[in-house]
Amino acid sequence: MTETTHSPQQAMTRALQLDRDDPLTSLRNRFLIPGTPAADDVYFVGNSLGLQPRSTREHVMQVMDQWHHAGVHGHFDGEPAWMDLPQMISDRMAPLVGASPQEVVVMNTLTVNLHLMLASFFRPHGQRTKILIEEHAFPSDHQAVASFLQLHGLDPAEHLIVVGPAPGEALISVSQLTDAMTAHASELALCLLPGVQYYTGQVFDMPTLTETAHRRGIVIGFDLAHAAGNIELDLHDWNVDFACWCTYKYLNCGPGAPGACFIHERHATNIHHPRLAGWWGHERGSRFQMAAEFVPPPTAQGWQLSNPPMLAMATMLPALEIFEAAGGLKPLRERSRRQNAFFRQLLTEQLPDHVHIVTPDTPLAGGCQLSLEIQCEGTSGREVFDRISSRGVHTDWREPNVIRAAPVPLYNTFEDIARFVATLTESLSADN
Ligand SMILES: *Cc1c(COP(=O)(O)O)cnc(C)c1O
Repeated sequence: MTETTHSPQQAMTRALQLDRDDPLTSLRNRFLIPGTPAADDVYFVGNSLGLQPRSTREHVMQVMDQWHHAGVHGHFDGEPAWMDLPQMISDRMAPLVGASPQEVVVMNTLTVNLHLMLASFFRPHGQRTKILIEEHAFPSDHQAVASFLQLHGLDPAEHLIVVGPAPGEALISVSQLTDAMTAHASELALCLLPGVQYYTGQVFDMPTLTETAHRRGIVIGFDLAHAAGNIELDLHDWNVDFACWCTYKYLNCGPGAPGACFIHERHATNIHHPRLAGWWGHERGSRFQMAAEFVPPPTAQGWQLSNPPMLAMATMLPALEIFEAAGGLKPLRERSRRQNAFFRQLLTEQLPDHVHIVTPDTPLAGGCQLSLEIQCEGTSGREVFDRISSRGVHTDWREPNVIRAAPVPLYNTFEDIARFVATLTESLSADN
């Protein structure tokens, strides 16, 4: 972004021009945008709950109709047959995370899947009894890992290694994590790290972390809640052991939609890999012979437990199809970089004393989200957040002092960014 923007009016003019020039702007029309008949709201919370695609309702109603007309036969008859839908969703999800369709399974929800992956991949043996996480891991991840240690009779106070940023720093460097892996190499069984840190928006260098973990004989998994549908991922080639993500954030599959797992081919093809089993993980051809013996297929589908929830899964294909219409994540990332450069430029020019951008400013270390620390004499950050919310600008607040704002390239515009900065500017002034 070379042009300088001076006034809020000029910023808006420039934003409208950028929207006209960008062929991906029209993807917004595929979504239902909250707001009033007079004006759309500025929705920058796709990192929490992505917006509803226009086509989703019809897919949900189709399951209702199939249930009405076909009853139990809907499992095998109909377009799609319920038996086929989970694999169809996995097939479409796989390219978004750089996996083969055999490495992806859609099931349960993120935290449940983390537990299933820990059951398969946390195999304490000899000296190797510890798990490494980062200090600001999402609470659910911290709780899942700690409770899993306890389940094995291991005290988290001793067996959970928590790596934080250097004193006075907001961000953890890759070398802090790799140094910790090296220092604890002989006692670590597993590392669980985020792909994108939910609070700071920082992207972790997954290939380097994975390679380092493997050189030290440590299994590594990633929580991709804020990465899937946001940044480009190459899980297979990076050689990641496993990953879990939810689909209601950047993937727009709806509130509480089923989650997904990646299990690397090296593990997924091993039908004897330890796991918690259930009948839906049994290979499909003989599943209904109802034998007690468990024979999974040599794919990630072999980690399923139960008959999948079709009403919840009905939202997933239409949401994933939009990523195909966009040409995949690469053009979306490029648009997101242009949007974030414009966003940073406006914030730096117009609010240099009030906003500190926590998210790192390098092309590979940030995704859609900018985490903004608010500094305003006489007003709390929380108050500023409340003021912009009451003006139809949706972001989310994270204690103690951060507004997370995520322009999503699928449906947010440059105009949204200019409106956000204008509204924030108004809300920071004393008379508001
Ligand atoms: C959103 C999020 C979750 C949510 O977990 P659920 O089991 O889907 O409720 C977990 N981890 C991270 C990092 C998240 O951002």
